[in-house]
Amino acid sequence: MKKDFTPALLDFGPLKIYLARHFGFCYGVENAIEIAFRTVEENPGKRIFLLSEMIHNPQVNEDLQEHGVQFLQDTYGKELISFDQLTADDIVLIPAFGTTLQIEEKLRRIGIQTEKYDTTCPFVEKVWNRSEAIAEKKYTVIIHGKPNHEETRATFSHASFKAPALVVKDMEQAEELVKYISGEKNADKFYEEFEDQYSKGFDVTKDLQRIGVVNQTTQLASETQAIADFLKQTMMEKYGLDDSTIEERFADTRDTLCYATNDNQSAVIHLLNTPADLAIVVGGYNSSNTTHLVELCEEKLPTYFINDEERILSQDEIMHFNYKKKLQEVTHDFLPQSLPARILLTSGASCPDALVEGVIRKLVGFFPSAKTVDEMVAEIR
Ligand code: SF4
Repeated sequence: MKKDFTPALLDFGPLKIYLARHFGFCYGVENAIEIAFRTVEENPGKRIFLLSEMIHNPQVNEDLQEHGVQFLQDTYGKELISFDQLTADDIVLIPAFGTTLQIEEKLRRIGIQTEKYDTTCPFVEKVWNRSEAIAEKKYTVIIHGKPNHEETRATFSHASFKAPALVVKDMEQAEELVKYISGEKNADKFYEEFEDQYSKGFDVTKDLQRIGVVNQTTQLASETQAIADFLKQTMMEKYGLDDSTIEERFADTRDTLCYATNDNQSAVIHLLNTPADLAIVVGGYNSSNTTHLVELCEEKLPTYFINDEERILSQDEIMHFNYKKKLQEVTHDFLPQSLPARILLTSGASCPDALVEGVIRKLVGFFPSAKTVDEMVAEIR
């Protein structure tokens, strides 16, 4: 039942794990991993590079490196291996986030054909198509996304090829942007405040008069909607428009979140209706979609963001990632005193299911009277 978001209960007796109805690997990630491993298999003896991390999951990336794949850049686009060392004989895989037009051109000039090894997710390409359509209608493209994220950089590159483009990272920045639209803030300050987030030649006095919004596929749905509504309302007020005339200044688009982001977030929202002691979210620490699942959970209950079962150090200690401070912290006595312990569990779109299973097995091991995982699996079958 695709739209049934009721969580699955794994009842081990003294431990109850509520598993989100949708979690983990999405189509784009599975597709990218499959292409990458097939490329390795079909090209023995060839040098194979990945433009940057395949997806934001350390285990998957390590696995690829162990198969001889080398990373050309880090997540922020910094070169780890010089492009000068590449030859036309090399294979370069484009990750699921896609890449910029500039990098595609750079590789083409070296003689590297990327089409066959391009794992860009079709849902990312959909955002590019949407932003190009907005640009063709002469709207400035506002991209709600993380300015340094590979996907947002790629979308920015595609959008700014055809029209002025600007990245807005969150509601706080949208609120500042609105002050430039209304004229409340001096235009000169814009270039400092939005440094590295606007396209070449961006003219804040002209390029905010007609706008359209797209977003990184993995953003928080509620924030994406709030930002689009806020900007739309601002344009209505500034130019005296209503629903029948809004298109004069604001492109009529829906959000560009992908299905996996929507389904994983909806599943977590439903999961949070279940009374529980704590939540565990599994995924890579630089994964945008996973971080948003953490954000949703921590509004309701103690939440631990871990990238594998090893972070559960013992039944008294868990090492988890604080995404706001960008560091790992250890929490003691994270399991409840009273039984049964009730734990909500989910994972991000770049997290292999095996890691979720590892977390379940580790937790079950802390409860000697609990059913084993294998008993539970036999029961479900
Ligand atoms: S999270 Fe969405 S956009 Fe990203 S790879 Fe998965 S399906 Fe594609």
